[in-house]
Amino acid sequence: MKCALITGGSRGIGRAICTRMAALGYHIIINYKSNTEEANKTLSLIKEANGTGELLQFDVADKNQVQQILGGWITSNEEKHLDVLINNAGIRDDSLMAWMADEQWDNVLKTNLDSFFYVTRLVLNSMLTRKYGRIVNVVSLSGLKGLAGQTNYSAAKAGVIGATKALAQEVGRQGITVNALAPGFIKTDMTADLDEKELKALIPVKRFGLPEEVAHAAAFLASPEAGYITGQVLSINGGLYS
Ligand code: NAP
Repeated sequence: MKCALITGGSRGIGRAICTRMAALGYHIIINYKSNTEEANKTLSLIKEANGTGELLQFDVADKNQVQQILGGWITSNEEKHLDVLINNAGIRDDSLMAWMADEQWDNVLKTNLDSFFYVTRLVLNSMLTRKYGRIVNVVSLSGLKGLAGQTNYSAAKAGVIGATKALAQEVGRQGITVNALAPGFIKTDMTADLDEKELKALIPVKRFGLPEEVAHAAAFLASPEAGYITGQVLSINGGLYS
């Protein structure tokens, strides 16, 4: 059974990627941190469209949880092959650097960057054995350009971009591609507190993007046909930065 693990699949961009990948025939492993109600909604959407999936709750920032819960799932589901990994779970906690607390730096780095290492290292083993894999890391415009008020988030996402390029070179010969998607402003809970009216004036296409538009690009990079694209960062930002 070909499977796709999507971290942060309970809401926003992750949910859109889950439903899109399910429509392409993948059995979806929906990871989330705490919002079981929303994660179940993602699963219902998949099932309504005749897809299949299951929930896998763990904190991507917690090395032990990743090892025990994801590692345990991999060991006890040998017939389910994780062909696709979408590292999407993420948080922001903005502050000017002068006022940034240790926890703001630590939490954002752990959730957005350390998680990439913990989750990917585990999944990579089975991809290497099967000589096939598609890894897509959801980064951000902030990691390419840097945004004031987001030194923590920009550093974390830029870190994932560097890791994407390095890992792509390590595993290319084993049939595994590693790419990143860099969204600009996308309408989700994460951007609900932003002034959309003011910000959209800065975006060439004059609107925020939709989670489904990011999911479309994720599905493309995760497809078997995208095997000659690796180590790339694809921006999805309405022309805000290119
Ligand atoms: P969102 O609506 O806030 O959803 C975040 C998702 O990540 C939820 O499913 C949440 O699970 C999960 N999550 C958060 N921390 C987690 C943890 N420690 N362990 C496991 N799951 C965790 O965010 P979004 O806008 O869809 O963002 C998705 C990704 O896109 C993030 O990496 C974000 O940085 C990136 N991005 C977003 C935008 C944008 O404009 N929205 C722009 C650029 C990049 P729970 O439901 O359980 O909390």
